[in-house]
Amino acid sequence: MGGNGPLNVTQQRLLLLGPPGAGKGTQSVRLAEEYDVEHVTTGDALRANKEMETDHGTPREYMDAGELVPDPVVNEIVVEALAEADGFVLDGYPRNLSQAEFLDDMVNLDLAAFLSVPEAELVRRLTGRRVCPDCGATYHVEFAPPEAAGVCDGCGGELTQRNDDTEETVRERLRVYEENTAPVVQYYREVGNLVEVDGTGSPDEVFAGLREMVESNDAV
Ligand code: ADP
Ligand code: ADP
Ligand code: ZN
Repeated sequence: MGGNGPLNVTQQRLLLLGPPGAGKGTQSVRLAEEYDVEHVTTGDALRANKEMETDHGTPREYMDAGELVPDPVVNEIVVEALAEADGFVLDGYPRNLSQAEFLDDMVNLDLAAFLSVPEAELVRRLTGRRVCPDCGATYHVEFAPPEAAGVCDGCGGELTQRNDDTEETVRERLRVYEENTAPVVQYYREVGNLVEVDGTGSPDEVFAGLREMVESNDAV
């Protein structure tokens, strides 16, 4: 929207739900740019504070095992991030019903979108994921390779593999997702504004699907 256009009175408040590897990070970055809102991601925030001492130990102890970091630690991150954001796309939170209730008490969402991708594809995506430790960009060795192998297109950083993206930890994360986060999707299906988007196409196709949902939601 140009500087002289109508004032964007209410910025979009979007939630992206989906299993690990569904493409939440990839699509959140695009949505944040398209709608000029904050990308709020608990995963990145926790990775930046992995060694932080809390009443519940450090985030690392949970993350490296593929388990959920305790709610008080994660909720506090979200409270702070949302307090500073006009509009946002929330990625990686809520991950259990208690977080969903906490979020409900804090904000009203414009849209909750669920990215659906079959499990075999999730494992391929996660085990082939590479990330740039310098700028946070995400790649895939096969599906979204950088121009030069192992080097970030954006900043030249040396790409690495997250240490929870090994096959064993991926299986545990998918189990934790089924147990804790699938009920959250069901919850939004029942009470919220949940739309389902096919997450199996190319990143461009998935983005087009999401944008369509945001825009048609606006018209209501
Ligand atoms: P999430 O944040 O949901 O865990 P990511 O956005 O990090 O997911 O994506 C997981 C992996 O799958 C990354 O390596 C990413 O490059 C790749 N990926 C994302 N979207 C697609 C897609 N539509 N098709 C193929 N690979 C994808
Ligand atoms: P994914 O690619 O699986 O979506 P994330 O980057 O969102 O991964 O999360 C990585 C890890 O950070 C999780 O396995 C979990 O340990 C922790 N984490 C992220 N978000 C949350 C949350 N909302 N509640 C609890 N733990 C979280
Ligand atoms: Zn980079």
